[in-house]
Amino acid sequence: MERPAKSNPGATYEVERKHPPLSFLAPLLEIQTLDLAADAARKRSAGLPEREALPVAAAKLIEIDARLAAAQADRALREAEEEEVGIAVSQIVKDIEAAEVERYSGKRKNQDEASAHKEAQEKLHEKQTAYEEQEMALLEAIEAVDDRIREQEAARAANRVDAEGIEQAIRKVEQEVSVELEGLAKERQGIMASVPDDIISTYDRVRGQAQKGGRGAATLADGRCGGCRIKLPSLEKTKMLASPEDALIQCPQCRRVLVR
Ligand SMILES: [Zn+2]
Repeated sequence: MERPAKSNPGATYEVERKHPPLSFLAPLLEIQTLDLAADAARKRSAGLPEREALPVAAAKLIEIDARLAAAQADRALREAEEEEVGIAVSQIVKDIEAAEVERYSGKRKNQDEASAHKEAQEKLHEKQTAYEEQEMALLEAIEAVDDRIREQEAARAANRVDAEGIEQAIRKVEQEVSVELEGLAKERQGIMASVPDDIISTYDRVRGQAQKGGRGAATLADGRCGGCRIKLPSLEKTKMLASPEDALIQCPQCRRVLVR
């Protein structure tokens, strides 16, 4: 007598498929493991604290350069001023000498002329002293500006050393990550051949969606989706377990590809 298979065909299948020797889609989970490792590697590179330190160093350099430029402009200004005062001093020295030459050129001078000459010369000497004092103050100011310039130049050099160190640290991790990603991609390529294309593309699409944690596949165990933990309705479960091994089955809630 024939068994009434039509009354509950899924149950028969479920019994038969409860412990398959090896899941047909197990390689998809391997692909997912590789993809999650790649995500972690990329995150390590993107999340490097040095990436934030670099713009901070660049902003500092702009400030240093602004201070350096201001100090250099200040120096140029004072230098020009000092040169002008220097010219004025040598002109006064010449004037004093010329007046002396005239005074003792042999021409007789009366008393009034003599005292006028003396007074004029004294005024010139006073002016010379004032100019020389001004020149000295300017030279001191230039020295102070030079200190400022040296300070900013040292800060600039230190900033460059810092920035280069940061860049080097980033490059090192980027290289490591690039080697790691290359290896993971190669490994993925090798596994992909054993998974149907439509399943891979569905997996990739779900994996790329927000709030999926980079997981496009999940195991189906004890009637539960391993991704979102939803318990599948028994009819749905029965239908899934009855479908061919290479069939694309997705969780009705999270849409992840289910691996039986
Ligand atoms: Zn799910």
